[in-house]
Amino acid sequence: NKKVVLKDFITGFPKESDMEIVTTDTVRLKVPEGSKAVLLKNMYLSCDPYTLWRMRKHDEPPSVPGSVITGFGVGKVVDSSHPDFKVGDFVWGMTGWEEYSLITETEMLFKIRYTDVPLSYYTGLLGMAGFTAYIGFHEISSPKKGEYVFVSAASGAVGQLVGQLAKLMGCYVVGSAGSDEKVNLLKNKFGFDEAFNYKKEPDLSAALKRLFPEGIDIYFENVGGPMLDAVLINMRNHGRIAVCGMISQYSLEKPEGVHNLLYVIAKRIRMEGFNIGDFLHKYHQFEEIIGEYIKDGKITYVEDKAEGLENAPAALVGLFAGRNVGKQLVVVSHE
Ligand code: NDP
Repeated sequence: NKKVVLKDFITGFPKESDMEIVTTDTVRLKVPEGSKAVLLKNMYLSCDPYTLWRMRKHDEPPSVPGSVITGFGVGKVVDSSHPDFKVGDFVWGMTGWEEYSLITETEMLFKIRYTDVPLSYYTGLLGMAGFTAYIGFHEISSPKKGEYVFVSAASGAVGQLVGQLAKLMGCYVVGSAGSDEKVNLLKNKFGFDEAFNYKKEPDLSAALKRLFPEGIDIYFENVGGPMLDAVLINMRNHGRIAVCGMISQYSLEKPEGVHNLLYVIAKRIRMEGFNIGDFLHKYHQFEEIIGEYIKDGKITYVEDKAEGLENAPAALVGLFAGRNVGKQLVVVSHE
């Protein structure tokens, strides 16, 4: 059983050398008699910014040095003593970065409903990232038709769906991304009205002013740092900021300060953070709506697939350098 193991707790920016590939015996991997366990053959693993958090030192770190890295993924049941999961079922949920995972705690394992879409979508579009986009936009941002929406890290796993949901609702949508290739995707594949490469803008606030002369109603926050400061100046009265993530801060020893928070008062802004884990009861509703959108061709999704477990460390590290174009995942096995 080939696996990706954490070598030491990660500090600062992650490095490939923080992880290593090891191989162990598969013979011992069997569902224990009398248990409610599932043996999974992992197919696709999701690389998420929060995977990094799982690899840092906390009071109760999910990953410790020497242990397999864990996160969301898609797999096929190859052995089961659990009444809800049969051999041959496709599932998504919490698993390990390895060829086979014995799952003894199945609360975070879900049966896949739409098997006629690419199953890898359950690492992104129909998995945690897509669900985050859906909840963050529809529940946290309180959108109305015709509003002005700005999304950062807009071509990523979450951002590309936020933009498309906003367009479906009849909003004006602008996205920022870190390369011209990504900007091109935003405008020509995902249907954003406008997009810009933030790395090429000497003045982020001026860029937003140019694209939102009347101001921003909704900011879907994925990056934090200087972008948040620039947005605060450009918000409209009664605007909403859905604080989904702040990836620019995750690897810093000391997070940067936010300088323009006073605008929250002057412009009566509602700024709300959320954790997708609190919304699991709405997952089926989301899966059905997005599943139908996919079937009707209303939504498109771009994935960045790293082939093979040995490429998982580089894929994870790449998220923090913006190397991924679309949803980053790792293909362990195609079937
Ligand atoms: P992405 O697919 O968007 O990948 C990360 C992207 O972030 C990179 O491609 C890069 O894009 C951008 N980025 C990396 N470093 C920086 C930086 N220093 N400054 C600005 N941009 C940077 O990831 P996800 O879509 O999976 O996640 C997006 C956000 O959503 C993250 O902040 C994540 O933590 C958050 N999240 C929150 C959840 C919740 O429950 N609240 C659940 C899931 C995700 P570019 O080239 O454009 O810079």
